[in-house]
Amino acid sequence: LSFYLHRTPIVADLFFPKLLWRKPDGDKIYLTFDDGPDPKSTPIILSILRESNVKAIFFCLGENAAKYPDLLKRIIEEGHLVGNHSQSHVSGWRQDTDAYMKSVRQCQEIMGAIAGSSPTLFRPPYGRMKPGQIKSTLNDYEIVMWSLMSGDFDPRLSAEKCLHFVKEKTRRGDIVLFHDQASTIRKLEKVLPQYLEYCRTGGLEFSLI
Ligand SMILES: [Zn+2]
Repeated sequence: LSFYLHRTPIVADLFFPKLLWRKPDGDKIYLTFDDGPDPKSTPIILSILRESNVKAIFFCLGENAAKYPDLLKRIIEEGHLVGNHSQSHVSGWRQDTDAYMKSVRQCQEIMGAIAGSSPTLFRPPYGRMKPGQIKSTLNDYEIVMWSLMSGDFDPRLSAEKCLHFVKEKTRRGDIVLFHDQASTIRKLEKVLPQYLEYCRTGGLEFSLI
């Protein structure tokens, strides 16, 4: 398996205790979709979730929310949560804290104007933040990382292998990362329905954070 196909190591909890990596209490799973909203993938993902009666968290980019405000509204209307994923997918490692926080605020303002209230969850693009950025972001947000990355974005990973991987690796309390993108939807429309069914059959319920 490729380097990114992994569960986040337990040590992440120890080094970054203020960041949420997983919620080990209970029999819940937390589904997250990053980088949308996107007109090719979001409507399909929403239909799959609706059919299975599953709620998820969508970490949206401000620039995409601005382009597709109706999609953002639809995500919320269908009972899902939306979170801030920065304005244009900036890496914290490449920016000073002022520039980074500006990107977080831009996304917050756009999403707040469309949704009527500002998101309270933030996920850093690439999972990369400097300590000062973490500190500033924590003033307004809970920072939500992930414990299981699906690898859905890798064109070399077939739908079958992606499904096999997430089924094998999922544990109760996991925060699972998928992507809400045009490039992932062909795979996700095969993987998601079977994955949701698999988790349900195994006694795991899907929950919002
Ligand atoms: Zn992202």
